[in-house]
Amino acid sequence: TDQTDQPRPRISVVGTGYLGATHAAAMAELGFDVVGVDVDPAKVEALSAGKVPFYEPGLPELLVRGVESGRLRFTTDLAEAAAFADVHFVCVGTPQRPGSNGADLRYVEAAFEGLAQHLTHDALLVGKSTVPVGTGARMAARVREVAPAGLRVELAWNPEFLREGKAVHDTLSPDRVVVGGASPWGDDLLRQVYARPLSEGTPFIATDLPTAELVKVSANAFLATKISFINAISQVCDKAGADVTVLSDALGHDVRIGRQFLNAGLGFGGGCLPKDIRALMHRAGELGAHSLVALMQDVDEINMWQRQRVIDMAVQACGGSVLNRRIGVLGAAFKPDTDDVRDSPALNVAAGLHLRGAQVVVYDPEAGETSRRMFPTLTYGTSTEEAVTDADVVLVLTEWPVFREADPAKLLGLTRPGATVIDARNCLPADTWRQAGWTYRGLGAAR
Ligand code: NAD
Repeated sequence: TDQTDQPRPRISVVGTGYLGATHAAAMAELGFDVVGVDVDPAKVEALSAGKVPFYEPGLPELLVRGVESGRLRFTTDLAEAAAFADVHFVCVGTPQRPGSNGADLRYVEAAFEGLAQHLTHDALLVGKSTVPVGTGARMAARVREVAPAGLRVELAWNPEFLREGKAVHDTLSPDRVVVGGASPWGDDLLRQVYARPLSEGTPFIATDLPTAELVKVSANAFLATKISFINAISQVCDKAGADVTVLSDALGHDVRIGRQFLNAGLGFGGGCLPKDIRALMHRAGELGAHSLVALMQDVDEINMWQRQRVIDMAVQACGGSVLNRRIGVLGAAFKPDTDDVRDSPALNVAAGLHLRGAQVVVYDPEAGETSRRMFPTLTYGTSTEEAVTDADVVLVLTEWPVFREADPAKLLGLTRPGATVIDARNCLPADTWRQAGWTYRGLGAAR
């Protein structure tokens, strides 16, 4: 609660996708008056009606509470937001640039320029999008050029670390708040915005712009490296007859290593890690920091190879060709608890098998719609049972709990005789599936 008499800063959030919609709803939950801005009228309409246009546990409740309280509204009018708020969070996308590893910064540039142009009073512009190091300084210079004279207009970078599927928790109770480039005035405003998590012990790390930008991409680079590391180890396990899951558990007891992000499997995907490590590789190359370029290239290559490895396992399970063979695919989202299929390894494998002539039926508990939009040529089922019916091979490509908890004996009654399950996330109870009569294959799982 606010102990002082000073008015609370008003907040705008520019870009209301996965990050921005969550951030806007969370800011309203913390008691601020918030306006969310997006160029996509359909998104603005849905959010205004209290509907989250993607699957994120807990977010619908937060959004409805914010909208009903009158503290949270959405618009396509950037000028309105510029005139309304004191603190503006820029949460627009920074996708991979077509034909390049670098980030496409046109949305970030448009958001900062648009805001700066329309400001009517003092404002702090805060970048939250993940950007190549150096972007913040460039945007600050641009904002100074464009903003009306006589106003105090400052820029800071406050990178976002939320995980899809846990976005509400991560926004309301972040592991840390990192702020780059803020003056004492900007620092004070952001401490007001984050007063509740800070009062609950969240560390506040104030630094310069390049350090703040690099904290975010380094975090993603490290997580990606951990995943590719264990996937490379899982290949050795396969060759040597060792069990990578037992190995990961044993490694994880070492607090210097930790158990998280050490699951061998199909590798990482989604709207962040792949494009972020590529953007980092690209930027490091521009800066002449070649060690990181080499490291990230290997991490990316190992990760992409996992998709081929799983396709090869399916081909092998079908006796050398998947042509006209029936393959049930369980999972399409890039990870559980989301319907996000951007750069999803699961869909990549499903599409790869489809292109090799297999009859693929995909089922995902939440990502059916988003998958259909991305890959309309694949066939989608509405249940696990439908996907495995008459299958020669079943692939588990996203570790949703409903797949882990499925009854393997019941499912084997639906498949062709002698079906194989390829557990590309090492998430099933292997012994239970074997005992039920399945031929079970994991990655780096001892036979
Ligand atoms: P997204 O594509 O879901 O959302 C981006 C939104 O910005 C879209 O709704 C788009 O219509 C809107 N937009 C584009 N240009 C605009 C403009 N000029 N004005 C207003 N709105 C505009 O992307 P996202 O996943 O939310 O990611 C946004 C940023 O946050 C990226 O830089 C990403 O790397 C970073 N990030 C994402 C996550 C995550 O888990 N999704 C986590 C941390 C950081």
